[in-house]
Amino acid sequence: MSRAADAFRPAARLGSIGVSQILRITAEAGARKRAGRPMIILGAGEPDFDTPDNVKEAAARAMRAGATKYTALDGTPELKAAVAEKFARDNALEFSADEITCGAGAKQILYNAFMASLDPGDEVIIPAPFWTSYADIVAICGGVPVVVPCGQETGFRLSGEALEAAIGPRTRWLLLNSPSNPSGAAYGAGHLRELAEVLLRHPHVWAMSDDMYEHILYDGFSFATLAAVEPALKARTLTVNGVSKAYAMTGWRIGYGGGPKALIAAMAVVQSQSTSCPSSVSQAAAVEALRGPQAIVAERRVAFQARRDLVVKALNAVEGLSCRVPEGAFYTYADCSGLLGRRTPAGEILASDTDFCRYLMDTVDVAVVPGSCFGLAPFFRISYATSEAELTEACRRIAGACAALS
Ligand code: PMP
Repeated sequence: MSRAADAFRPAARLGSIGVSQILRITAEAGARKRAGRPMIILGAGEPDFDTPDNVKEAAARAMRAGATKYTALDGTPELKAAVAEKFARDNALEFSADEITCGAGAKQILYNAFMASLDPGDEVIIPAPFWTSYADIVAICGGVPVVVPCGQETGFRLSGEALEAAIGPRTRWLLLNSPSNPSGAAYGAGHLRELAEVLLRHPHVWAMSDDMYEHILYDGFSFATLAAVEPALKARTLTVNGVSKAYAMTGWRIGYGGGPKALIAAMAVVQSQSTSCPSSVSQAAAVEALRGPQAIVAERRVAFQARRDLVVKALNAVEGLSCRVPEGAFYTYADCSGLLGRRTPAGEILASDTDFCRYLMDTVDVAVVPGSCFGLAPFFRISYATSEAELTEACRRIAGACAALS
């Protein structure tokens, strides 16, 4: 049947890209919960903690003082100064105001950077598993994601050798994320040095370092970022960060980046023709988050670590599952290959991680996200940014569901 002339025709650039699967799974689980099912939703990557009071108060003060108008395009002078201080304090990276950009979340920073730099066919190397949006943003911007699988055996980390093999004449970017969503794996300075050695041999390849989970690291693991580990790479590295995860500010929508002036200026063009400045009130709140007391970051890290330990221990006690201990972020990425081929009580064979996650959702009311969403299967991601009581119950249900397989 031919399509009606007035039917909506999406642009070719959207290709097969849909709304994020994580959001879809979370929405489905939410609908079931509202319908009365005892759902435990471990899908979304969002801290359960509240935004600190000092941050909320700074926002209220800013509003009362009239900070309710458009601001400078890619960040107020105050926010840029606070970001520069943050980079200097935490990462030993020096940036001037024209080397800093602020947008509506780190997601917009990534989007601006790819939109500003990719021509059709340009390649971006993305180690898998990766945050779902990476490949989709690259594709929307006309680029080609070059996915490099990095399994459990390499600690879910990209090796220098694998990077070397993935680089070609069309490579524009390496996109790194440490600690990682979804695996929780982190790169120490030694790991980054190995990658830096390779990048130094390929001057046409730039690096994007997504440091969103910088402050959520455990067991004393010390954070490292590429531009600081190898200063010679700073001239072709964009270091991306934001306040969403560290300060439980996902809804405020403030992210930022530090990088070479020419790139930052090109990103401003993209932002000026899409969203303009980020929210004035949120920028004032972000200044307080970055400059105010930081103790809450460490307190929450302790709480996250206890949750990580609880989940990893519970999953590893289940026959058929295996879960590496993640260094950071608030996710576990467990291998469920030991369960594939088994039969559910309803007689269905589990053929993939997607089947396994669907089985958990339908039979024990637990929502988790399959590894196929993150480019590396068969795994499933648990976001443990929720209470220990809920996590304990979720793991009990998962164990029960696994034991019921034959
Ligand atoms: N990078 C990573 C790795 C993330 O997990 C997220 C959020 N899920 C973001 C960037 C974007 O964060 P925001 O836009 O809220 O700053």
